[in-house]
Amino acid sequence: MTRVLVIGGGIAGPVAAIALQKAGFDPVVHEAFDRTADQAGNFMNIAPNGLDALACVDLAAPVRRLGFVTPAIAFYRSDGHRLTPDISTEVQAGPGAVIQTLRRADLYRTLREEVERRGIPIQYGKRLTDVESADGRVRARFEDGTHADGDLLVGADGIRSRVRRIIDPAAPEPRYLGTVNAFGVAPKRRVEGTPGVLRMYFGRKSFFMSAQHPDGDVWWFANPPRPSEPDAAEMRRPGMDWRDEIVELFRRDGMPALDVVRASTQFSVPSANYDLPTVPHWHRAGMVLVGDAAHAISPTAGQGGSVAIEDAVILAKCVRDAPTIAAGLARYEEVRRTRVEGIVAQGKRNVDGNLSGPLGRMVRDFFIRRAFRDIAAKGPDNTPVWMLGHHIDWDTREVASARTGR
Ligand SMILES: Cc1cc2nc3c(=O)[nH]c(=O)nc-3n(C[C@H](O)[C@H](O)[C@H](O)COP(=O)(O)OP(=O)(O)OC[C@H]3O[C@@H](n4cnc5c(N)ncnc54)[C@H](O)[C@@H]3O)c2cc1C
Repeated sequence: MTRVLVIGGGIAGPVAAIALQKAGFDPVVHEAFDRTADQAGNFMNIAPNGLDALACVDLAAPVRRLGFVTPAIAFYRSDGHRLTPDISTEVQAGPGAVIQTLRRADLYRTLREEVERRGIPIQYGKRLTDVESADGRVRARFEDGTHADGDLLVGADGIRSRVRRIIDPAAPEPRYLGTVNAFGVAPKRRVEGTPGVLRMYFGRKSFFMSAQHPDGDVWWFANPPRPSEPDAAEMRRPGMDWRDEIVELFRRDGMPALDVVRASTQFSVPSANYDLPTVPHWHRAGMVLVGDAAHAISPTAGQGGSVAIEDAVILAKCVRDAPTIAAGLARYEEVRRTRVEGIVAQGKRNVDGNLSGPLGRMVRDFFIRRAFRDIAAKGPDNTPVWMLGHHIDWDTREVASARTGR
């Protein structure tokens, strides 16, 4: 059986391992950190396209048990006025579509449990340092002096990927986007409207998003601007320091952010925002990249995790259906590159819109109103929006296109 070394036990890695096992391969996951390391308290959204891809490998149900359902989104100006009504996720992604809002640590834990439940080994404390490749075999070397041999190596090792650098020593570094992400939770607040709806506020100085958990807590994040890339010491500042700074950002706005941030009792350590627009080489000599290792997306798109899941499932289909592993990897890149680079570009436009001046803000608000009016006019039974309405059919074969002949 074909042995696959999956490097990284975040999101793309566990899903890739499960999808590859379903496709008839023999995967092993190697994760750098000890199993207790993923304490990240922040939250994220798994979009309908991510849930659709998870359903291909029977992972949608366990993920849907985490966090809460987000049935709609809405946009607001800095003075608190609505730019849009609550826009149902169904009109963007088809009947029954929802977004799942969940804590990152819960998602990682659940995916790893599902890997173990399927009998796929996960080895912790295995930080990849190098890969040797010859005669159709790969050897992964780890920091602890051990190694593992296989027929294919999947680099699911995130935005600072070591595998990316091994495939191409000249591969680009992530691009800093000029903002940081700060997360918090305000306990038991009264806020307007239906619980679960993602409410996006374009504050004058910072973007702010909040959603009410059905238990009454309000989960939020803000994107304080930081023109130059913060260093590690700044990012380690205590949460309460950040809270005071964020309160100041919203003092002149008329949105609920000020009250919510002031009332917050939980803060997670903020992180700087990056993306990775174009990685020239996704695969070489039995090694391939998935998820953030290949194409990190600004968090403002709410898509990085979902697209990483899509990658993992489509990679498994491509190697399942191709005559050779090399042909499968070529097909995978062919299927994925245009879509993911389009989503990276959309994420960057979101960041630029959030950082624009008064005139730019007017233009942005005009386009948001118009875009969502057009989407809402179509209704849930019309063509789904390209990003959220993406669908994968596990049983359809991934065959080479006539255009490339691969
Ligand atoms: C603040 C923030 C908010 C976000 N919000 C959203 C959101 O709402 N929705 C969304 O879809 N996406 C969101 N994203 C993006 C999303 O988190 C990423 O796109 C997603 O985690 C990518 O998954 P991955 O498996 O490729 O990488 P990761 O989740 O980063 O996993 C990589 C794994 O590889 C391991 N690893 C790294 N190096 C090595 C090595 N050398 N050897 C072995 N293992 C290694 C790491 O320990 C880690 O476990 C957000 C990102 C950030 C930073």
